[in-house]
Amino acid sequence: MNYGRTYNFSAGPAMMPEPVLEEIRDEMMNYRGSGMCVMEMSHRSKVFEEIIQEAEKDLRELMNIPDNYKVLFIQGGGTVQFAMVPMNLMKNGKACYIETGAWSKKAINEAKKYGEVIIAASSKDKNFTYIPDCSDLDIPDDADYVYICENETINGTTYYNLPNTKGKILVSDQSSMFLSRPCNVSDYGLIWAGVQKNVGPAGLAIVIIREDLIREDLPAFVPTYLSYKTHADAASLYNTPNCWAIYCCGKVFKYLKKLGGLEAMNRINEEKAAVLYDFLDNSKFFKAAVVKKDRSLMNVPFVTPSKEQDADVVAASKAAGFDNLKGHKSVGGLRASIYNAMPKEGVEALVAFLKDYEAKH
Ligand SMILES: *Cc1c(COP(=O)(O)O)cnc(C)c1O
Repeated sequence: MNYGRTYNFSAGPAMMPEPVLEEIRDEMMNYRGSGMCVMEMSHRSKVFEEIIQEAEKDLRELMNIPDNYKVLFIQGGGTVQFAMVPMNLMKNGKACYIETGAWSKKAINEAKKYGEVIIAASSKDKNFTYIPDCSDLDIPDDADYVYICENETINGTTYYNLPNTKGKILVSDQSSMFLSRPCNVSDYGLIWAGVQKNVGPAGLAIVIIREDLIREDLPAFVPTYLSYKTHADAASLYNTPNCWAIYCCGKVFKYLKKLGGLEAMNRINEEKAAVLYDFLDNSKFFKAAVVKKDRSLMNVPFVTPSKEQDADVVAASKAAGFDNLKGHKSVGGLRASIYNAMPKEGVEALVAFLKDYEAKH
C-alpha cells in the first residue's frame, strides 16, 4: 500500500520497517483481545509480561546471547548510559576510552565526573574520519574497562576489528549499529544501545551485561534507578518501563528473525551501503568523508566542494522528497543514515537524484 511515506534519512529517530508499523496499527485499538492498546496496559499485567518476556527471548535468539548475560530494558535513552556505565563499572575509578567522534566524546565527558578517564587512542588528528589502531593499546593494570562507540553516528565510522583490551572488559555503545550485523556477545562485558536509531521508538536503551559485572557494592550516591542490579533483579520491571517501546522493539526482533537473522540483515546492509559508497567514490562532485576501511554501513557522511553547495543539495533533496540529509552541525556536509529499515530502493533513488544533480551542476 502507498502511504505517501518519504525516504527518511534521519540519524534518529529513524525509519521502522513498514510491515512492523502495519502490525502495530492493526493491534492499536485492541491488542489481541485484551480490550486495550499496549499504551494503556499495566506493566504488571500478564499480557504485558508476555510481551516483554517474548521480546527478550527473541533478542537472545537473534544475537545468540549466552546465558550468563542479562538483557535489561532501561529508560532514559542512550545518554543515561554514559553515566550508568562509569557509576556501575568503575571500581578502581579508572577506565580507558577510545575517542572516535562526537558520541565517544560525550561518553568521555560524562565518565570524567566519576573517575579518571584515559584516552587510550584517538582519531582527533584527522577530524575523526578513521578508527585508530587498537591492536596494542597502553592499558593500565588497574583500568576497570575499555570503552568504545562501535559506530559513530555523526562521523560515520565503525569498527571492523574490536580493540585488544589486554584482558580488560570491553564496553560498547552500539546505538547506531545494533542488530545491523552479527555480534559475538561474549567478546564484551557490556553492550548498550539506545533503540531509536536502528530498532524502535525513542526513550529506551537495551543493555546486555555479563552477570558478574552486576555489583551490589555501589557507592551510596548512585541513584537506585541507575544501578544495573535494580533492573536485573526486577527483570526490567522495577518501575514502569517504556512499555510501548519494548512492544515495538519486540515486533522488530520478530521481523529480523523472519528475514533470516543478523547474517541476512548484514548482507542486505552491505549491498545497500555499496550502492551509495560506489557512487560517491566515482563522483567528481561528491566525496565520502571517511577512509574506506572504517566506513559505517549505517551513517554515510559526504561533502560537495563547498558549504554553499552542500546547503543547495540539502534543499534540492528535500524538494525532491528525501528527508533529513543535512550533516550534523558539528561536521557539516551531508549525511545519509541508512539503517536496517531503509529499503535498498530508497538508497537507489537517492543515488539517482545525486547523479542527476551532479550532471546539472
Ligand atoms: C543517538 C546516540 C546516543 C544518544 O542517544 P539518546 O537516546 O538521544 O540519549 C548515544 N550514542 C550513539 C552512538 C548515538 O547514536
